[in-house]
Amino acid sequence: MSNYRNVSINRREFLYLGALAASGFLMKPELAISQNESLVVTLTRAASTAKINVTNLRGNISVLEGSGGNVAVLNKEGGKLMVDAGIGVSRKNMLVALDSISTAPIEYLINSHWHFDHSGGNEWVQKEGAIIIAHENTKKHLMETIRVDDLDYTFSPAPAEALPSIVFKEKHKHDFYGEQIEIEKYVPAHTDSDVSIYFPESDILHVADTFCNNYYPFVDYTTGGSIYGMIDAAKRNIDRTTSETIVIPGHGSIGSKVELVQFHEMLVVLCERIGKLKKQGKTLKEVMDAKPTASHDQKWGASLVDGNTFTYLVYKGL
Ligand SMILES: [Zn+2]
Repeated sequence: MSNYRNVSINRREFLYLGALAASGFLMKPELAISQNESLVVTLTRAASTAKINVTNLRGNISVLEGSGGNVAVLNKEGGKLMVDAGIGVSRKNMLVALDSISTAPIEYLINSHWHFDHSGGNEWVQKEGAIIIAHENTKKHLMETIRVDDLDYTFSPAPAEALPSIVFKEKHKHDFYGEQIEIEKYVPAHTDSDVSIYFPESDILHVADTFCNNYYPFVDYTTGGSIYGMIDAAKRNIDRTTSETIVIPGHGSIGSKVELVQFHEMLVVLCERIGKLKKQGKTLKEVMDAKPTASHDQKWGASLVDGNTFTYLVYKGL
């Protein structure tokens, strides 16, 4: 089982580095990787002091980067609508960032999926008076005890104050001060709770963790993720964007259709390659030794999921 163990360590490092890079923590040398505590604990500690950077994207929409996944904020005169809320302990710095946009209250929060680095702020945001909208599986997973081995962490059920009060199955349209927001479920991809959030007036699409800009994605098989679904979601993201659309990835820098196309191509090529080897009856170790991702590692595997880790994820999912 030593192969599995090695892969697990790589995956731990990936998750740590990925979250840190996306959160801007990677620049802090004092945050050394610890093999003795869960990444959730390490990340949460780092998020408690992380500065949140605010960038206006277009129209009334800004992105907040620094705590877990990318947070989108639609600011209207009467109130704000957020997509994701980062890690819960970032409340103070999140509020500073939100106040720098305007003093309007937070009225709604949409969860892109259930993961703690996106929904961790649910409780405080709801206590601020916001209403939470999410896919029904996000609510379901937040109410469960979930063991995620790759994070070496067991998530306890969230308190009632953190649970979404508006849930849907496939699509949900929300009118916010006359601006329409279109929320749509993906097929199970990164998890079985992923939704896209589209702002037609600004032509901005938040794609949850179905897209990481410039690195291999993670697939959470513990809550229904699927590598086939990742390809499907990547294709769907391309189909619903134009060259003008601004794409907010779950993690990584703001992107566009060009990066979505590259991401989809990478997934298709590598899944085909790894699938072929698996069909020939090769073991995971044999497939990893064949380095099927070598041609793509420089672009996609340099700092986050490395080639071996991604090979493992694809092999497992095919
Ligand atoms: Zn996620």
